[in-house]
Amino acid sequence: MNTTQFSDLDFKADIKNNLLANLESLGYHKMTDIQAKSLPYILKNQDVIAQAKTGSGKTAAFGLGLLSKLKVKEYKIQALVLCPTRELAEQVAQEIRRLARFTHNVKLLTLCGGQAFAPQRDSLAHGAHIIVGTPGRIQDHLNKRTLNLTKIHTLVLDEADRMLDMGFYDDMMNIISYIPKQHQTMLFSATFLDSIVKMSASIQKKPINIHVESLHNDSEIEQRFYEVTPPHLKIDALKMLLAHYQPESSLIFCNTKVQCQEIARQLKGNGTFALAIHGDLEQKERNQVLLRFANKSCSVLVATDVAARGLDIDNIQIVINYDLSPDVHIHRIGRTGRAGKKGTALSLYTTHERHKIELIEKIQNQMCHYDLLDSLEDKGIATPPLMITLCIHAGKKNKMRPGDILGAFTGELGIIGTQVGKINIFDFSSYVALNRKIANKVFKHVQNINIKGRNFKISTL
Ligand code: AMP
Repeated sequence: MNTTQFSDLDFKADIKNNLLANLESLGYHKMTDIQAKSLPYILKNQDVIAQAKTGSGKTAAFGLGLLSKLKVKEYKIQALVLCPTRELAEQVAQEIRRLARFTHNVKLLTLCGGQAFAPQRDSLAHGAHIIVGTPGRIQDHLNKRTLNLTKIHTLVLDEADRMLDMGFYDDMMNIISYIPKQHQTMLFSATFLDSIVKMSASIQKKPINIHVESLHNDSEIEQRFYEVTPPHLKIDALKMLLAHYQPESSLIFCNTKVQCQEIARQLKGNGTFALAIHGDLEQKERNQVLLRFANKSCSVLVATDVAARGLDIDNIQIVINYDLSPDVHIHRIGRTGRAGKKGTALSLYTTHERHKIELIEKIQNQMCHYDLLDSLEDKGIATPPLMITLCIHAGKKNKMRPGDILGAFTGELGIIGTQVGKINIFDFSSYVALNRKIANKVFKHVQNINIKGRNFKISTL
């Protein structure tokens, strides 16, 4: 079959209309390459082995396959998806839940290590239709007889190559031994090394081989999209991202000046060193903000698009889109991942901003990669910046040169050169970045610092 329309697929008549309407509501108007190539076979209950990466739409390929066979009224576990990591399992579970919105009462459980066993056991006792999990934990449940796989009709091995790399071969084979002989196996793997081909031969029946040129991202920017749903607010989500990723430098984009100030204020209230930059700042303030960001004494900069336009800063580790703006999305994320460095771009969106994601996918010609806020690890608040900035009230007009400032700090105060960062000299003032760790020592002696034979006034920014 040579079609990219979901409506051309052979879904069962009683679910087809609702299923298609749900795909439309998710913005899935056409099949991706892997879906078009695999779904016709998957829906015929054939085994498939597919080479596909994240971003290709593989989750929907097997997700629609297993959902289309599900008998919701039979309250038994019918489908099992094995994933190498908890993160992937959560992501897969989220995608299947979205896809399952066309029908009521589908119960999906994730069973992963690193989480308490007892609540999983209790949930299992209440029953489920679909299990998504990691091999180790599923094996544990089988050993403790808390999981019954005797009604499984669909098995998915997602990122099978990674599961083999992680040493899950025995667990996987053992899990499969609990599944009825008659079942469909879908195996997804980024690579097709011998070990995968061998494993497929031993567990699959005449699998259809599917290969697609994946839409994976070759650029240096890794993108992730996070849906913010109640009770979370976007500001909380932002704090969660900063606390999880702990970036040394991050640029947060939002749409308005007011929002920009408000976000910076809230972050500061939370102990994060954030500054706002927007069109209302005077030139001097703007310069100071940029200087502090560039010399590493401010790690979080909140900006409007206009204000960021003239920004000439390399090495921004993470760009965060507080709001989605499809028309400037590519420009925004292009602030990171420069000069051959790896960059990360994170985007927050609410349910009613979903349609913008679709536009972004079109513009970048690539599917968006979703992640879950709940999967973020809380490592406290964002890392404080490495440096602090001191302002010396003397500049070029006082014949101040960088060497004079460096000499004063390293000489009399005995600070080593590597603890002194960027020095910027303007007409009437100069700025020096110092390692935060030595800040106290400097403050104690700040009145006595002698530069070019004088005690210029020194203050912190
Ligand atoms: P995956 O490769 O499964 O991680 O999918 C990447 C992203 O593409 C997921 O976030 C899906 O929500 C999205 N996606 C999957 N299939 C489609 C489609 N046919 N149209 C638009 N987006 C899709």
